[in-house]
Amino acid sequence: MTYRAPIADIAFSLKHASGFASALAEGLYGDLAEDLVDGVLAEAGRFATDVLAPLNRIGDRYGTPFRDGIVTTPPGWKEAYRDWAAAGWNGLAAPAQWGGQELPQALNAGCIEMWNSACMAFGIGPVLTMAAVDALAHHGSDALKRIYLPKLVSGEWMGTMELTEPQAGSDVSALRTKAELVGDGTYRVTGQKIFVNFGEHDFTDNIIHLVLARLPDSPPGTLDVSLFLVPKFLVNTDGSLGRRNDVRVHSVEHKLGIHGSPTCTMFYGDQGGATGFLVGKENRGMACIFTMMNWARLAVGLQGVAIAERATQQALAYARERRQGRASHAPAEPGLGSSPIIDHPDVKRMLLTMRALTHAARAICYATAVTIDRANRGVDATIRRAAHERASLLTPVAKAFATDIGSEVASLGLQVHGGMGYVEETGAAQHYRDARVAPIYEGTNGIQAIDLVTRKLPLSGGTAVGIYIAELRHTVEAVKATNDPAFGWTGVRLQEVVESLERATQWLLARWQDNAALAGAGPYLRLFAAATGGALLAEEALAAARLAGDGRTAAPARIAIARFFAENIAVQARGLEHAVIEGADGVIGADAALADKLS
Ligand SMILES: Cc1cc2nc3c(=O)[nH]c(=O)nc-3n(C[C@H](O)[C@H](O)[C@H](O)COP(=O)(O)OP(=O)(O)OC[C@H]3O[C@@H](n4cnc5c(N)ncnc54)[C@H](O)[C@@H]3O)c2cc1C
Repeated sequence: MTYRAPIADIAFSLKHASGFASALAEGLYGDLAEDLVDGVLAEAGRFATDVLAPLNRIGDRYGTPFRDGIVTTPPGWKEAYRDWAAAGWNGLAAPAQWGGQELPQALNAGCIEMWNSACMAFGIGPVLTMAAVDALAHHGSDALKRIYLPKLVSGEWMGTMELTEPQAGSDVSALRTKAELVGDGTYRVTGQKIFVNFGEHDFTDNIIHLVLARLPDSPPGTLDVSLFLVPKFLVNTDGSLGRRNDVRVHSVEHKLGIHGSPTCTMFYGDQGGATGFLVGKENRGMACIFTMMNWARLAVGLQGVAIAERATQQALAYARERRQGRASHAPAEPGLGSSPIIDHPDVKRMLLTMRALTHAARAICYATAVTIDRANRGVDATIRRAAHERASLLTPVAKAFATDIGSEVASLGLQVHGGMGYVEETGAAQHYRDARVAPIYEGTNGIQAIDLVTRKLPLSGGTAVGIYIAELRHTVEAVKATNDPAFGWTGVRLQEVVESLERATQWLLARWQDNAALAGAGPYLRLFAAATGGALLAEEALAAARLAGDGRTAAPARIAIARFFAENIAVQARGLEHAVIEGADGVIGADAALADKLS
């Protein structure tokens, strides 16, 4: 089934729930006009639908063959990348100084969602290049910026992000790749990196590897690591490509999904060492990596939304066509004994769950993107600091919730297809396979939950999260004040979820350094997302109701989604609260239950 870019839904979520409209009105984005926002989304949607979506299946089937040191991308992909970069998409939110358009990250987020819906394996490459641009623009020396940023921003070269080694996954401090200073101020990099997305390919002439490595004076097992820029080809002073650097791809992984994206093992230093250039300060590489990662984590969250949207579109189309059994209360249709499966309440529930989870995750991601814009562009330091704290709080939620639901929604999509979902023909299985990596990479979702509980909740002594919960309460009151029967139990259920979140937050703030907090982190993140997603969907529904009053939009659909989420999904909040507060002891003390033999 073909993909239709949900431009209206994206624009609605952006404008009515994320805070984008007030940011626009306040002048955060200069004189950016709403028309331009709509135009960019429409054009990105067209590219996604017409150019990228048809490549998705091809990428899955063809993969990225690796022969004689050369990685070949699937047929048509190289040309699509060329056209995508030529249209300026890579530099949409990049600094104007380096050739970018400096448009809002929130708008970039809408585009990234569509490109990844159309073809997630393609979308991950540009996301990593954008992250590399971010790191270099913030931490690179003037000389590095001058040489590398214009070509990374234009997309003429692509970037990678290289942390992972066989013994160093979630625990970055275990990395062993070495870097030694040589006489001319460059560094000699030796070691091995694994799972490098787009580590080698034929999209661009040069590939700019951003590699974390350890200097000789950095003690093993510490996070005193440094970031190095290691180009595949060294660059001459006139900007032309020079000699090949001492870095090569050793192998390409055979994976469950995203077959079109080459995931590589990279070797550095076969011939004595690759030439690397320090980014930022020695032993302070983690600061640069966090700049890269914060953006990349949101972008991976958007991949979750993207795959959920595509799976939902496909399941809906299938459920309208496939006929089985006769739905109770179905009108007798002459000549047809059976009903479309969408008429069966259980299928309808699956489809509504898919749609509501997708919309909630989208709203969380866009709200996060707007806070990132505020943190970068706010007029004074106080505003920027508050926005930075809000973005820090929301980023792990956006990444983990959106990618978890990406997998869940893709799984439901497969279920809606019945047996036809389990065979490859319909494409539902590909969404399921592709979606599964997103909860793993860019920091597993378990690590995101721990980050939320141990680093983000304690920000400003708990004030940041306190202010946030107070804002959620505001939304609850606004829903209750409508007295509109179309909202059903939305106000009541949202109040319950916010109260659960408040109690669980207080409990965790009192013991965030304990094992118990680590044991409850996963359910707490889900609870946080239920409250946030429920409130943002309610904001959308309230806005739709207001606009419908003017006869400008169809309110019932958005109210129905917010209501379904509150009444059927957010109601899990009480259980999640119990899991955080009461379930932790049972996790910590249950080692015997995991013993090899139960007696
Ligand atoms: C397709 C693909 C592409 C990738 N692309 C890149 C890339 O471009 N660049 C790059 O650097 N890396 C990349 N990665 C690597 C990815 O980021 C890691 O796989 C991820 O960080 C997890 O590390 P690991 O696989 O070693 O798992 P492990 O760290 O071994 O984790 C295994 C399990 O244990 C849990 N766990 C580990 N430590 C803790 C802890 N302290 N507390 C609680 N739970 C814990 C994890 O949550 C996970 O469930 C990619 C991976 C894949 C699969």
